[in-house]
Amino acid sequence: MTLEQTLPICVAGTWRLGGGERYATCYPATGEPVAWLNAASLEDVELAVQGAHQAFLNSGWAQRKPHERAAVLYRIAEAIRQRSEELAQLQRQDNGKPINETRALVASAAGTFQFFAAACETLEETITPSRGDFVSMSVYEPMGVVAAITPWNSPIASEAQKVAPALAAGNAVVIKPAEITPLLALQLARICEDAGLPKGLVSVLPGKGSLLGDALTRHPLVKRVSFTGGTRTGKHIAHIAADKMMPVSLELGGKSPTIVLDDADLDHAVAGVLYGIFSSSGEACIAGSRLFVARSLYEPFMQHLVAAAAQLRLGDPADEGTQMGPLISAAHRESVERYVALGLAEGGRLRLGGERPSGGLFDQGYFYPPTILEGLDNHQQVCQEEIFGPVLVAMPFDSEAELVEQANDSLYALAAGIWSRDYKRAWALGRKLQAGTVWINTYKQFSISTPFGGWRDSGLGREKGRLGILQYMEQKSLYWGMSQQPLAWAGVEARP
Ligand code: NDP
Repeated sequence: MTLEQTLPICVAGTWRLGGGERYATCYPATGEPVAWLNAASLEDVELAVQGAHQAFLNSGWAQRKPHERAAVLYRIAEAIRQRSEELAQLQRQDNGKPINETRALVASAAGTFQFFAAACETLEETITPSRGDFVSMSVYEPMGVVAAITPWNSPIASEAQKVAPALAAGNAVVIKPAEITPLLALQLARICEDAGLPKGLVSVLPGKGSLLGDALTRHPLVKRVSFTGGTRTGKHIAHIAADKMMPVSLELGGKSPTIVLDDADLDHAVAGVLYGIFSSSGEACIAGSRLFVARSLYEPFMQHLVAAAAQLRLGDPADEGTQMGPLISAAHRESVERYVALGLAEGGRLRLGGERPSGGLFDQGYFYPPTILEGLDNHQQVCQEEIFGPVLVAMPFDSEAELVEQANDSLYALAAGIWSRDYKRAWALGRKLQAGTVWINTYKQFSISTPFGGWRDSGLGREKGRLGILQYMEQKSLYWGMSQQPLAWAGVEARP
């Protein structure tokens, strides 16, 4: 593709220019355009959903045997692997993450298709214990058209997490990627098509969520929305879904506590805390953004942490050694800066960072350094709101009871981390923390085989896990009458 070309989008099995406004996606490390495309229009939403509905009804995909659907998904996984370097480089340009990180995201997307292919061909329907003259069964049916609405921070991995189980279940999917990072979703649609997925089963609608995502969610033929993004948008979608009586899964924001107990292995804890907040430049829902350290350890731990954070390599995402790339956009960097200023106004002190770097690439892209604030209380705004950037707030604690109260004192409840050498103590604490995921002596580790999701304002429902495929299916109970006699109630006698 050349920069002058306007990229086509995928609407109901046809590649054509979107009906909306032309816009450029930009490389956050330089601010320069990567590709031009036309956003989808509301007419494209209608065509994509109608096309998906027709493909669901007529392509035979839902009727294929599970191992036949799985064969296509295995091919998609393989194609992602074969094109992994090209996809990782494109994703680096799409959202500015360091190349090593985008390689891992592409590998994760391939693994997700492979996993759900296996889940599809091994999914069991059950014969339930009979309590009458019948055989009773629990079976699953696909839903029809599913909408997958994804954010900008981990394209392809987020999309795979929704598209793979939805297709495995026999559905059609309309993807609405974030307006500013549409390139990987478009590539994924190409890969699905090349792998032999019937046309129309996957559409991709780049453009504004407030227009396209909203219309998709409201569409009567859309039977489920799987959404990852901010809590405010998630609640908006939940309201629409309630009116339609439509199931939704919502993977939303977080303000996750990382806890260092006084018996922690300091080197492990420092490495884990740094990775938890500063990898992906903090643009991660599960970022460990609130640090609680036992008071007896606080100062030595902070010295070690600050010294190690100062060594992190912020820079060109194309360099193999870069650990932190730019933030996604100028507007997002300004939002992060406002939070740091607010933290200082609330009485916080900077232990590290807090100022834009300058010189070379730093003058072009939206870079922001690892930043550590202290001297704040958990109830203050920077400790309660999701910053979604490389900003850590560190707080000492005195007792475990006080710690649990503060760690759980958040609207969010997505993840938490504990660092301790005492596994019994860590177990007891882990059970008291309110969070969808608790990491003990590790952080930000993921497995497609383990369910993921949040409590409270962090979301509804779970993605991943072998049974993640069931989110995209309706359960149905089947009863097979086995009596030689008619049902007794009507008093009808069986004829000899
Ligand atoms: P948004 O909620 O703004 O956007 C997410 C997606 O929703 C985008 O595709 C967006 O489109 C779309 N959207 C926006 N408005 C609507 C609407 N009214 N109806 C339907 N869709 C809409 O989130 P961000 O892009 O700011 O992403 C960051 C957020 O995502 C953070 O809060 C983060 O915590 C969360 N997140 C959660 C994860 C999890 O698994 N729990 C993982 C990753 C991120 P567009 O951008 O094109 O306008």
